Amino acid sequence: MFQKILIANRGEIALRVICAAKDLGIKTVAVYSEPDRHSLHVRFADEAVCIGPARSARSYLDIPSVISAAEITNAEAIHPGYGFLSENDRFAEVCRASGIKFIGPPPDVTRMMGLKQKARQVMKDAGVPVLPGSQEALTSAEEALEFAASIGYPVILKAAAGGGGRGMRVVERAEDLPALLAQAQSEAGAAFSVPDIYLEKYIGAPRHIEFQVLADEHGNVEVLGERECSIQRRHQKLIEEAPSPAVTPELRADTIAALKTALKAIGYQNAGTVEFLMDEHGKLYFIEVNARIQVEHPVTEMITGVDLVKAQIRIAAGESLPSILGGPIEIRGHAIECRINAEHPRTFAPCPGKITGLNLPGGIGVRVDTAVYTDGVIPPYYDSLVAKLIVHGANRAEAIARMKRALDMFVVEGIYTSIPLQKKIMHDGDFASGALDTTYIARKLPEFLKS
Ligand code: ADP
Repeated sequence: MFQKILIANRGEIALRVICAAKDLGIKTVAVYSEPDRHSLHVRFADEAVCIGPARSARSYLDIPSVISAAEITNAEAIHPGYGFLSENDRFAEVCRASGIKFIGPPPDVTRMMGLKQKARQVMKDAGVPVLPGSQEALTSAEEALEFAASIGYPVILKAAAGGGGRGMRVVERAEDLPALLAQAQSEAGAAFSVPDIYLEKYIGAPRHIEFQVLADEHGNVEVLGERECSIQRRHQKLIEEAPSPAVTPELRADTIAALKTALKAIGYQNAGTVEFLMDEHGKLYFIEVNARIQVEHPVTEMITGVDLVKAQIRIAAGESLPSILGGPIEIRGHAIECRINAEHPRTFAPCPGKITGLNLPGGIGVRVDTAVYTDGVIPPYYDSLVAKLIVHGANRAEAIARMKRALDMFVVEGIYTSIPLQKKIMHDGDFASGALDTTYIARKLPEFLKS
């Protein structure tokens, strides 16, 4: 096992990795940008290294700075968290060349999964259903029009290197396609330095359902059930839960079997998430693989009892999945996560600032993953996640009751947060009945804002 690891991230996920390392008796090194000097991940790590100014391109994304920090502190491995360098295959390669273990999949696997159409092809070859779409990046508006006509409108344009919903455009009619393609290409180029866009069939009101995977370096693959992440605004998740109210035991078993085959064929390693959309007939279609730990991983931890971050570290240290898991995966009860963001509850505009008052909820079945504290500041430079509020109950109804209680006791003063909207959702009849899809918030928002 490693003696010391470096965490190339900030905020709640950096603290989350520190917790896992502490539980394993591993020393930790935090890295931070100048405005993060007083962050909790800096405080609770055994060592901390300043790697640059606020701008992430010159700190958290600066590969030479991160590698130097690992070298001067003798860290043997780097956990990248999510975002930042987590799915950067070049970073994983530099780690390897520097003799530092990257806690994640091998660079070639990350590269393949990062190219969404490549990942689609691999899944398709392994018998996992994918939505009809273009295999290669679109080279012209004419070609895009031809593809769209062959699969039928509406279609969705997506960035090949995409993430966070950027570079995505829904196209209802052929006449809108050329302009939307140009917009998507320039947005993708700016966000990911790769302007490549592909298109696929657009599903009107799908559910977003994803499966958590762990794979060791000896060919063992386990799938730890699914999460439902249909409560989204602007194609970004706001509430997640596990298990999904829409996945039957048969569908779960079939999907797990197909995924095991596909991931073994790919040579997948470490933690990952395979994302699907479910259509109105309850059929799942693959959309992408996220080759990293995800924000919403705690809901899976709550229902399986598996510490996914600890598992990531143990896998990277060469341990086998059977010894890490110690038996078959069992799903117990129901878990829900609310992402508490510093954002305006009506406009969703980020509202960073100073937290002047704070009460974190607790009590039975409640977990809060956060790095905020009273008088702490949510800086404007990074994402606006304040905390993840996770509840676990014997069933979905108990989990919802606990979430209502915990949201009522969650006080954040000084900034706007998503808490008022999340309270409305927890009291909504459609949410309670499990009637979810990705258009839920857009559909319900006018009603929520009235009351
Ligand atoms: P990103 O990597 O940018 O997050 P994803 O491919 O994961 O993009 O898609 C994010 C969200 O966008 C999905 O959860 C869903 O809400 C919507 N979406 C993506 N593809 C489709 C599609 N083919 N039909 C309908 N909605 C889609």
